[in-house]
Amino acid sequence: MTEPHRPLDKIIIVGGGSAGWMTAAALAETLGRSCQITLIESEAIGTVGVGEATIPPIRHFNQRLGIDEATFVKETAGSYKLGIQFVDWTRLGHAYFHPFGQYGAEFDSVPFYHFWIRESFAGRIQEPIDEFSMCWAMAKAGVFSHPSPNRQQIQSTFDYAYHFDATLYAAFLRRYAEARGVRRIEGRVVDATLRAENGFIKSVTLDSGEEYEAELFIDCSGFRGLLIEDALHAGYDNWQHWLPCDRAVAVPCAKGDAIAPYTRSTAKSAGWQWRIPLQHRTGNGYVHCSDFISEYDATTELMTSLDGEAQADPRTLRFVTGKRRKFWEKNCVAIGLSAGFMEPLESTSLHLIQYGILRLIALMPDKEMSPLLAHEYNAQTTAEYERIRDFLILHYKATERDDSELWRYTADMAIPDSLQYKIDHFRNYGLLVSDERELFKNPSWIAVYLGQNIVPLRAPALARMRDQVPVGERMAAIAQAMGEAVAQMPSHAEFLAQNCRSPHAA
Ligand code: FAD
Repeated sequence: MTEPHRPLDKIIIVGGGSAGWMTAAALAETLGRSCQITLIESEAIGTVGVGEATIPPIRHFNQRLGIDEATFVKETAGSYKLGIQFVDWTRLGHAYFHPFGQYGAEFDSVPFYHFWIRESFAGRIQEPIDEFSMCWAMAKAGVFSHPSPNRQQIQSTFDYAYHFDATLYAAFLRRYAEARGVRRIEGRVVDATLRAENGFIKSVTLDSGEEYEAELFIDCSGFRGLLIEDALHAGYDNWQHWLPCDRAVAVPCAKGDAIAPYTRSTAKSAGWQWRIPLQHRTGNGYVHCSDFISEYDATTELMTSLDGEAQADPRTLRFVTGKRRKFWEKNCVAIGLSAGFMEPLESTSLHLIQYGILRLIALMPDKEMSPLLAHEYNAQTTAEYERIRDFLILHYKATERDDSELWRYTADMAIPDSLQYKIDHFRNYGLLVSDERELFKNPSWIAVYLGQNIVPLRAPALARMRDQVPVGERMAAIAQAMGEAVAQMPSHAEFLAQNCRSPHAA
């Protein structure tokens, strides 16, 4: 019997990939040694090892853990990321940028993009909205510097995230967690024993025969969902009809002298290719749909479009896009790939891990393990997955490409009503409808709408009512300020060398 209303004494995390060690680090930091935290992982099974691009909220996770940024970037051979360049997504030969930051600068109560649409419709400006993004100005110049805290300066209008080596990241967090009392056990979990009275997990058994008990189990075992699915049968919502890619071939290659401060995503015949620049190598992968291309052809397409010499044999990963029906079932919470995977297009998986952990901490159960807490966790996490899912689907739906089967399929596919509702507002009125909990804020939606040619039928009404604002002058001043700011910044490679050069970079 579980004892009611008493704090947990033992938590077991199964899995030592990014999810396992992020969870271990955050729980150790929050719970201290009040509770024994054990992580079980199997080196023989290994990790997926490819989550290398992040989005800005990861900086809050690091701050919460008290991690020094320069040390972190150095030890993970990391680099800085200002956004994602999308090449060939709208049509072949076209590119746009999804920036981590706003467009333009505030000079009126009307949002900048309203004026941009009005001026562009009137033919008074020709530049794409990208040209008013500080992130893109920096990205295309290949420079990096931290944002300014002074909101009067154009250098305050951008945000940033990181790229890093996934294996070094897990090792970094392992050192952090073990220094704070997390116990690591090497071994393969071969069985989970359930309590007869309530079906809760009582213990896990390793291939050595050793058995480990806990009150709370965190399943970070990867795609398979060893506890949440194999033991507890939580179920899986399959989203392949909206997000049809189901394979990725990944390979690292040699890097050049310049290190781009952004991720590049290039649409291919049956999916898209990522390029993630690190200090010691460049990560590459071709995310594709096996209905439309063979593994052999996908590998060939990837290997013939690398920026440098391949540094390993290509590796294929298989996945099913979707999410676990219940993320928290009985006394088990799934975090990481065991919880779901929506494909890496907008680097959201590590973010979902981060928020899964923070949500678990906010709803920390005691030995009673109330189903009410699980219910709230599941409701919040489901809503978060669905909001991100819609943003990802938009990239596939809003394409003019009809040169291959994948793009013809996605351009024609039915989409969730929740996404259609948002598109209708933008297409008809140039307006953004968003939930305040939305991970992707207005600039992200603007980037993809305008970048992928979802153009409003008319300029937003508010901008049409503000004729007195000297918009042209303000826009010219913003563009000039951006150019001057970029000219002062060091190249990204220089910034890394001066502040956080990795020993792996040699
Ligand atoms: P894994 O890395 O698979 O780790 C599972 C762990 O469980 C391992 O330690 C394994 O040994 C252990 N384990 C499994 N079974 C057992 C057992 N029986 N006994 C003991 N231990 C066991 N995310 C991003 O945020 N950005 C990206 O750019 C990005 N790119 C991606 C590209 C691809 C192609 C894929 C597939 C994913 C990508 N992701 C990305 C997702 C990211 O890689 C994962 O979210 C992240 O690595 C966490 O994985 P994990 O720890 O859940 O699983």
